[in-house]
Amino acid sequence: MISFPFDNSYARLPEHFFTRQAPVPVASPGLLRLNRALAAELGLDADALSGAEGAAIFAGNLVPEGAEPLAQAYSGHQFGNFSPRLGDGRAILLGEIITPDGLRFDMQLKGSGRTEWSRGGDGRAAIAPMLREYIISEAMAAFGIPTTRSLAVATTGEYVFREDALPGAVLTRTAARHIRVGTFQYFAARGDTDAVRTLAEYARARHCPDAEGPLGLFRHVVGAQARLVAQWLLVGFIHGVMNTDNCAISGETIDYGPCAFLDEYHPETVFSSIDHGGRYAYGNQPRIVQWNLARFAETLLPMFDADEQRAVEFAQEALQAFPAQFEAAYQAGLARKLGLADPAPELARDFLALLAEQRADFTTSFRALAAAADDPSRDAPGFAEWSARWRAARPDAALIRASNPAFIPRNHLVEEALTAATAGDTRPLDALLDVLSRPFDDQPDRSRHASPPRCEERVLQTFCGT
Ligand code: AMP
Ligand code: MG
Repeated sequence: MISFPFDNSYARLPEHFFTRQAPVPVASPGLLRLNRALAAELGLDADALSGAEGAAIFAGNLVPEGAEPLAQAYSGHQFGNFSPRLGDGRAILLGEIITPDGLRFDMQLKGSGRTEWSRGGDGRAAIAPMLREYIISEAMAAFGIPTTRSLAVATTGEYVFREDALPGAVLTRTAARHIRVGTFQYFAARGDTDAVRTLAEYARARHCPDAEGPLGLFRHVVGAQARLVAQWLLVGFIHGVMNTDNCAISGETIDYGPCAFLDEYHPETVFSSIDHGGRYAYGNQPRIVQWNLARFAETLLPMFDADEQRAVEFAQEALQAFPAQFEAAYQAGLARKLGLADPAPELARDFLALLAEQRADFTTSFRALAAAADDPSRDAPGFAEWSARWRAARPDAALIRASNPAFIPRNHLVEEALTAATAGDTRPLDALLDVLSRPFDDQPDRSRHASPPRCEERVLQTFCGT
């Protein structure tokens, strides 16, 4: 029997933090995808996992020894409205594994059947949205952006019923910790200050053991989220559903639903079919993260100070650090994308303004700067004046290449791979994942994967896949 080095600290928290529940077995487990590189990083035996026993584990039919399956409780502000009772409606935390380097990761199944938190849902997932999470989370990891990872996608041999009947799948993902702003809100909304305190201490010990108390934790999370959203903007990522239940205390990107990458640059870009007001538009994301962090602070207020007025002052002071921390990370990243050692806010602003004006492709425009750094004849049309100023700042072509991916999971390529995989052909998926595993390398034989969509290939809307 395959063994995992489990040590389940969350399962040792008070019983009302979760409900104990095993994954619901499926008709016919199959292994659609195993992430061998990640398995190796985690110290797991990829060869063993690629067999029938692995498929049974990843489909939820076999609970490995040492697992203590549970569904976590959480609440969340969804599009600004508070839902007091969300929780893992289609996910099961199998347990936490300890890697050979001593790191601790949650191992969670998503799409593993109904739980006490399912409300009207079926607890299941279709192949396409689970592969979508796999592709995009692994691309984020290859960009060096904090994210949950995808270890495997198993097929179920069952259909899920959405608008159509779709073949079902279960995703296995890993995370430094599945604690969300919404997890804190769940207890705070019930007036359960003891539970908030316990959770805060648990998160502090796990994510920032050097930080002091709940305020130290809060300051740490503000910094981690500021850097995270800066990194999103720097690769053109739009999360799409930045509800507080999808905002991780670990500072990892979590819950890949209708997320997407910009092709053309424009700050108001929205892809998600459910984001009617553009609340979660590309350029709105920093403001929304700060809003989510304010909700987090509210849950911790009684722990910041016994005096309410002083507690609010502490919270505000910590939260007000966010814009500067975001701006510092964003400007440092933009400078690197321009091949410059030091922040150059005006050059960056003017470049982005030109991109927006021309509706130019975000990824290829930045990447093309590598060739233009030493060769004015490679300037894009309309950029000559800007380029002269930029070149005077002595951009470094190697830094540009190292800071700007040549390849991103473009919506049309992702859709193409998902459609084919759902129909049983995984070749486009394999090719896409292969390209995206080395996104900063020039791969001249992969020009189609580097190019923006042709007019008829453009995908303008993405769906949440629940
Ligand atoms: P999400 O939009 O994926 O962040 O999910 C929001 C909430 O809906 C979470 O509590 C999920 O567990 C729940 N949920 C999403 N899809 C399903 C489903 N198919 N069955 C049950 N619960 C679901
Ligand atoms: Mg979610």
